[in-house]
Amino acid sequence: MTTSTSWVVLKFGGTSVSSRERWETILSVVQERLAEAPDRRVMVVCSALSGVTNLLEDVIARAPQAKHHELLEQIEARHTELADTLGVDATSLLEDELLTLERLALGASLVKEVSPRIHAQILALGELMSTRLGAAFVARAIRESAWADARTMLRATEEPNAPLRRRYISAACDAGVDEVLQARLAADAARVVITQGFIAGNDAGETVLLGRGGSDTSAAYLAARLSAERLEIWTDVPGMFSANPRQVPTARLLRRLDYAEAQELATMGAKVLHPRCLAPVREHHIPLHIRCTPSPDQDGTVIAAQATGQGPQVKAVSAKSGVTVISMETLGMWQQVGFLADVFAVFKSHGLSIDMVATSEAEVSVTLDPMANALEPATLERLHADLNGLCRARVVEGCAVVSLVGRQVRSILSQLAPALKVFEEQQIYLMSQSASDLNLSFVVDEAQAERLVGKLHQLLFGEQGPDQVFGASWEELSGRVLPQLPFEDAWWRKRRDELLKIAEGGAAYAYNLDEVAAQADRLRAMGAVDRVFFAIKANPNPEILRTLEARGVGFECVSPGEVEHVRKLFPTLAPGRLLFTPNFAPREEYVLGFEVGAMVTLDNLHPLEAWPEIFEGQEVLVRVDPGQGAGHHRYVRTAGPKSKFGVSADELTRLAELAAAANLKVVGLHAHVGSGVRRAGTWSSTAVFLEQCREFFPDVRWLNLGGGLGVPERAGQQALDLQAVNASLEAFKAAHPELELWLEPGRFLVSEAGVLLARVTQLKTKGAYHYVGVETGMNTLIRPALYGAYHAIVNLTRHAQEPEIEAEIVGPICESGDVLGHARWLPTCAEGDVLLVANCGSYGRAMSSRYNLRKPAREVVLGELKRPSNPGQ
Ligand SMILES: *Cc1c(COP(=O)(O)O)cnc(C)c1O
Repeated sequence: MTTSTSWVVLKFGGTSVSSRERWETILSVVQERLAEAPDRRVMVVCSALSGVTNLLEDVIARAPQAKHHELLEQIEARHTELADTLGVDATSLLEDELLTLERLALGASLVKEVSPRIHAQILALGELMSTRLGAAFVARAIRESAWADARTMLRATEEPNAPLRRRYISAACDAGVDEVLQARLAADAARVVITQGFIAGNDAGETVLLGRGGSDTSAAYLAARLSAERLEIWTDVPGMFSANPRQVPTARLLRRLDYAEAQELATMGAKVLHPRCLAPVREHHIPLHIRCTPSPDQDGTVIAAQATGQGPQVKAVSAKSGVTVISMETLGMWQQVGFLADVFAVFKSHGLSIDMVATSEAEVSVTLDPMANALEPATLERLHADLNGLCRARVVEGCAVVSLVGRQVRSILSQLAPALKVFEEQQIYLMSQSASDLNLSFVVDEAQAERLVGKLHQLLFGEQGPDQVFGASWEELSGRVLPQLPFEDAWWRKRRDELLKIAEGGAAYAYNLDEVAAQADRLRAMGAVDRVFFAIKANPNPEILRTLEARGVGFECVSPGEVEHVRKLFPTLAPGRLLFTPNFAPREEYVLGFEVGAMVTLDNLHPLEAWPEIFEGQEVLVRVDPGQGAGHHRYVRTAGPKSKFGVSADELTRLAELAAAANLKVVGLHAHVGSGVRRAGTWSSTAVFLEQCREFFPDVRWLNLGGGLGVPERAGQQALDLQAVNASLEAFKAAHPELELWLEPGRFLVSEAGVLLARVTQLKTKGAYHYVGVETGMNTLIRPALYGAYHAIVNLTRHAQEPEIEAEIVGPICESGDVLGHARWLPTCAEGDVLLVANCGSYGRAMSSRYNLRKPAREVVLGELKRPSNPGQ
C-alpha cells in the first residue's frame, strides 16, 4: 500500500525558471498547493534556465577544439545574475557543478571528443544548476523544503543492445509506482522537493538524458512513481489550442481533453506538450493540467479520462510540415503475395519508419515523418533506387499533413462536408483516418497547409461559443499574457550554421529561395486574384526572378533598365506577364514599352497632350490617385495630393477625351496606395474606388490593385491576413465577375526571405551609450537612414544568450546617419560576432550604393530553383 501522503507534481520550463518574478510565481503556487490539504506534498520539477541547454550544447561542440572558455563564462554569468536577483549565493551553491563543467570540458578538449556518456553529464548540469538556485530561494520561505537529485528517483530502463547515444541521450524510464521512493520521501520532513527535469540515472549510477523536451516526460514519470494526485505543467503559453495560434490567432483554448485526444494533438504537431509525457499519466489516470506561468490565474487545459456522455466532436485542426510522401505504382503486382511486405522491408532496411499508409489497386502511398526519421537526401535517393526495383516509386518532398483531431471523427463526416470543400482545389496526395478514429488527415503541398488550416478552422469553429471544451481565443488571451517571441519561427534560426559560414566571407545578403517560392504560392493561392506581378525594383536578383517566374508570377517594371533585365532573363515571357509603369519618364520610354509588347501604365495627362501620336491604336492602363495614401512612411505613401503619382479623379473626364482623340483604349485601371500595409481591407477599397472610375472608360477589364502588402517587422506584429484580403476581394468579384483583379507586390514576396549578415568590427561606450560597429552600413542598407525603417537585429553568434546591453548598431560610413538599428537590446557583443539584420530581401541590395567607395554587401542565394508541377497563369 502507498502512504497517505498526497503528491502534486509541478513542472516549470526554461522561461518559467529564469527570473525572480517567475520564481515568486513558483513559490506562491507551491504555497497554495500546500494550503489545499494538510497531508499534501509538492514536487517541483525544473528545466535549465532558458538558453542554457543550448549553451551547454555549444560547449560540447567546441570543447574538442578547446574553444569553450568564453561559453563557460557566459554560463556562469547567467546563473550568477539570476542568483543575485534571487538573493542567494551562486558561488557556494554552484561550486560543484561549475567545477564539474570545467573538468568535463577540459577532458573533452584533451581527448578531442565528447562521448554520449560525457554529453549526458554536461547537459545535465543545466538542470542541476537551475534547481540549486531555485531550491535555495524556496527554502528561505518554506523551511520544510529540500533539493533532490532526480537521478536517485528515476531509473532508466536498460536497453543493453540499443546504440550508446540512445541509451545516454534519449533514454526511457520505468513508469511503475515506486513504493520504496514514496516511503523514503514520506520519512523525510520535506513537504516540498525541488528536482530536475530531463535527467535520470541508470543501473550503473550514471547520468542519462530523456531526450529534448524531456522535462515534461520526467515530471510525468515522477507523477506516476509517486501515484500523484495531479501533474501540473507550467509553461509560457496558456494551454493547448484548437489550432497553432501563431498561424490562426482565432484559435481557441481547449479547456478539457482526454488523454487520447491530447496524445493525438501532441503527436500531430502541437508543441505545448511533449508527446512522450502522456503515456505515464494516462496509465495511472493522473490528471494533467497545463498552466501558464506569466498568468497563473488562468485555468489552462485539463487533460483527464474522458468525461462521460461526451459525444463525437472535432477539437482541433493541426498541421505538420516537412513531410515526405512516397507513392509506389505497383505495375500490376499488387495481387502478388508479399508485395507489401517486400516494399515495407525496403523502408526497414533504410531505418525509416512509416507514418501514414494508403493503398489502392494500383498504388501504395506512405508518408515519412521528419520527427521520426533523419531524412537526408542520400538516404532518400538510396531508398528511391531500391524501391524502383520493386515498383515505380515517386518521392514528393515538402508536403504537410493537415489533420482534424477529435473523438469519433468518422461518425460526423457528413457534418464535415462543407469544411471539406476547401480541399476541392487541392491536390491531395494521401488521405487517412486513424484506426482509433481520433483523426482524419490529408497530405497536401506544404505551401497550402497554412491556408487550409485557417479555412478549416474558420469553418469548424468560427461560430463556436465558449463552453466546457472551448475557452477564449488566443487573440483575446494574448493581449494579456503572451510574451513576445522575437521571430522564433523565422527560417534563419534553423539555418544558423550555414549563415555563420557565409558571414565568414564578409558582409552578405543571403536569400532563401524556398521562402520566396512559398510567399509566391501564398499569393497565387488567393482565389480572387487573377494575376500577380512582382515589382522588381524591390529585388532584381536573377535567381529570385527565376524562382518567381517558375511560380507563375509576372513582372512589374518602372524603367527601361528593368524591362531589359526581365526580357534578357526570360526572352519568351508572355506579354501578359510584363507590366511597365514609368513615372515622369521621357517620351521614348513609352515608345519602348509599346515596342516590346509590355502592358503600359499611364499616370499623367502630359504624355497624351504632348505626344498623342505614340498612343495611336494602343491599349493602356491608367494609374489613378485614390486621393488618400496608406503606408509606413511619408516617402512611401504613393497616393494623395502630396504624392507625385497618378491622375487625380477629377481629371479622368479630360483624360478620357484625350484618349478618345488619340484613338487610345483604356483597358485597365491601377492604383497603388502605399507600402508596408497590413490592413486586410485596403485592396478591396482600392477595387471599389477603381470600379467607380470605370464610368469614364467602358473598355476596362483589368483592375490592378497595386502592391504594398506588408510583412511583420517587429516581434509580435500580426502578419497581413491574406485570407481576409482574399475574402474581401472575393466579395467584390461576386458583384463584378467580368473584371480581372491583379496585385503587384514587391516587399511581400521577398522581404522575409532575405537577411543581411555583417560581422562586428569595433565596440565603443560613450557615457550611457553602447555602440556596436559592423563592417557595412548605409551603403548596403539605407532604409533605416532614409525612412527610419525598423529591421530586427540579432546576434547570430550568440543566439541563445539573453540581451544585456542597449546598443546603437552602426556602420563604417562617414555620416552620423549611418545607423542600422537604434536602441536595440543585444547580448554583449565581441569583435567578429555575426549580426543578422532581418527582413532585408526587399529594398536592400536594390537601393545600395558605393558611397564612400565602399562596396555594398554581396549576395548569396540559398536553395535552388524548383519548378512546381503546375505554375498556372
Ligand atoms: C514600388 C511599387 C510596388 C511595390 O510596392 P511594395 O510595397 O514593395 O509591395 C507596386 N506598385 C508600384 C506602382 C510601385 O511603385
